[in-house]
Amino acid sequence: MLYVVGTPIGNLGDFSPRAVEILKQVDFIAAEDTRVTLKLLNHFGIQKPLVSYYEHNLRQRGQEILRRLEAGETAAVVSDAGMPCISDPGEDLVRLCAQAGVEVQVIPGPSAAVSALAVSGLPTSRFTFEGFLSTNRKNRGEHLDSLKQERRTMIFYEAPHKLPTTLEDLKEAFGGDRRIALCRELTKLHEQVLRMNLEQAAAYARETPPRGEYVLVVEGCPEPEGEAMDEAQALSFARKLLEQGEKPTEAARQAAKASGLSKGLLYKKLVQSLAEED
Ligand code: SAM
Repeated sequence: MLYVVGTPIGNLGDFSPRAVEILKQVDFIAAEDTRVTLKLLNHFGIQKPLVSYYEHNLRQRGQEILRRLEAGETAAVVSDAGMPCISDPGEDLVRLCAQAGVEVQVIPGPSAAVSALAVSGLPTSRFTFEGFLSTNRKNRGEHLDSLKQERRTMIFYEAPHKLPTTLEDLKEAFGGDRRIALCRELTKLHEQVLRMNLEQAAAYARETPPRGEYVLVVEGCPEPEGEAMDEAQALSFARKLLEQGEKPTEAARQAAKASGLSKGLLYKKLVQSLAEED
């Protein structure tokens, strides 16, 4: 049996009695950083062997843990804070266990993503979790491009020293008017939720060097005004623009903006329909 155990994201009072019980029962604990977990264990009077399990050893260590589980031991996997597997180690181990038929149970705890969403003041009924944006410019650009028409509320993690650049990139991708909640140091002494738009957020991060941990909750793309256009209507709109002298790329861009459909798709269909007429 493997237990996936959530740990506090700042306030030790959030550690559940059931989590304490399970950590006392298991044979060993796989921890992202054994020093961090040792402090948690000491606070709750838990003595248990720790095995380091983190990003750079998870392939080999995952196999070793799986062999021990298959031999009949029980283990818990924890990360430094929050839910394992969510932008944290654990996902691989759960997959290995699932493939090998080893039972996995969750002992839920706080997650910064869902906690931030709840206090953001933005729509919560539908949302996407985007984790950390890549530091590679090309990958980051592609990721943000893919979200330009995303209507659901989006959740991002970011390190404080990268926040000014990331907020500039979000502003560039989604426009300065888009609403954002900067959720800082949740459950800790300096907990703060700043609600503003991306223009203001980028300026704020430039002027006030961000400190502490942040989750960024960004409003989804607003519904286009008026009646929603379907694909046929968007194409007909684009064709009218062509007749008025616009180039196909510009016609597709305006039709995409008006309909909320993908510019690439509309451009492809537009060019296809022109070719079919020739
Ligand atoms: N697995 C964790 C979870 O479920 O919350 C997330 C781990 S991820 C490596 C760490 C990121 O989570 C931080 O960079 C920050 O974006 C966010 N985070 C963690 N604790 C936080 C807190 N107390 N307040 C705000 N953001 C937090």
